[in-house]
Amino acid sequence: MAPSEDPVVDRAPHAHSRSKKRNHETASVSGSSTSSEDSARRKKRRDRKALKRKNAHSDGLTVAVNGARPSAFATRRNSLGKAARDPRDEPVTKKGVAASAGSRARSPSPIIDFDGLSRPSPGTRERREEDKEKADERLVKMQGAVRTLLECVGEDPDREGLLDTPSRYAKALMFLTKGYQVNVEDIVNNALFHEGHNEMVIVKDIEIYSLCEHHMVPFTGKMHIGYIPSDTVIGLSKLPRIAEMYARRLQIQERLTKEVAHAIMEILKPQGVAVVMESSHLCMVMRGVEKTSATTITSCVLGCFERKSKTRNEFFSLVGVNR
Ligand SMILES: [Zn+2]
Repeated sequence: MAPSEDPVVDRAPHAHSRSKKRNHETASVSGSSTSSEDSARRKKRRDRKALKRKNAHSDGLTVAVNGARPSAFATRRNSLGKAARDPRDEPVTKKGVAASAGSRARSPSPIIDFDGLSRPSPGTRERREEDKEKADERLVKMQGAVRTLLECVGEDPDREGLLDTPSRYAKALMFLTKGYQVNVEDIVNNALFHEGHNEMVIVKDIEIYSLCEHHMVPFTGKMHIGYIPSDTVIGLSKLPRIAEMYARRLQIQERLTKEVAHAIMEILKPQGVAVVMESSHLCMVMRGVEKTSATTITSCVLGCFERKSKTRNEFFSLVGVNR
C-alpha cells in the first residue's frame, strides 16, 4: 500500500462488475486504481514518466506514448508491462543486451526470462548462484545491519533476548524474499494438460503473506484466481505456487495482483485470466492511520475477462468479492 494512498477499500472490482458498458479507465487499469479520478491522475504521471524515459533513450526501448493508439488492449498491455517492469527488476547482466537489441530480444516473454526467472531483482542471480562462503558473508553483513537497527531504536543488542535476533531476522528476511529466485519452469513442471476444457476454473482463498516494499512489514490476505482455458489447463496446485513466487518478495499489492495475472496468461495462454486480492496491510493497521478493519482490494482482468462484462461479473460473484 503506497503511503500516500487513502485507506479506502479499492472499488475497482465493483466498478468492473457494475459497468455494463466497458469503461476503459475503470475496467482495464487492473484494480490498482482507487477511483477513475485517481487512475486518470496516475495515467498522466505514467505518461510523463514514459515521455521522460523516451527522451533519455531514443533507441525505442520504451513504448511510444503518443500518436496512434493501436487498440485499447495493446495500449493497456503496454502500460501494464511498463509499470510492472520496474527498472530495478532488470537483471544487471542483461542491460547491455537490452540497450542494443531492444526489449523484444531481451527475453522470450516480458514476464519470464530465458533462465526461467520472472522479474528477478538486480541481485537475484548473484544470490541464487552464490556458494556457501558468499552466503555466509551475506548473512554476516545483514546481521550487522540488524544490530545497528536495534541500537538505533535504543535497544541493547547484547541482552539475552536479542542476542540471536540479528541472525534470526537475516534468515527470516532471506526466506521472505526467496520468491525472486524461483524458476517458473520448476513450478509448472509439465503440469499443463490438454483437456479440451473451456469453462471457467477458479481457485479461491489462496493465502498470501507478502512484504510491503514501502515499510518492509507484512501484508496478508487472500487471492482468488480464475481463468478460462484454451483447451489447456494447469495443475490446480500450481496457481497458489505462482502466487507465492510473487508474494515472497518486496511487493505492493497492486503489482502482485498484476504479476500473477500476467504470468498465468504467459504460461497457459488461456482465453482470459482474472485475479482479485483482498488484504490487510500491517503498515496501515499498526501504524499511521490505524484503520484496523480496512481491507484493500485489487484486481487484474485480462483477455476475455477484460472484454466481457458478463464473464467478469460471473467471476467476481463466484469469488464473493462483489458483496
Ligand atoms: Zn506499507
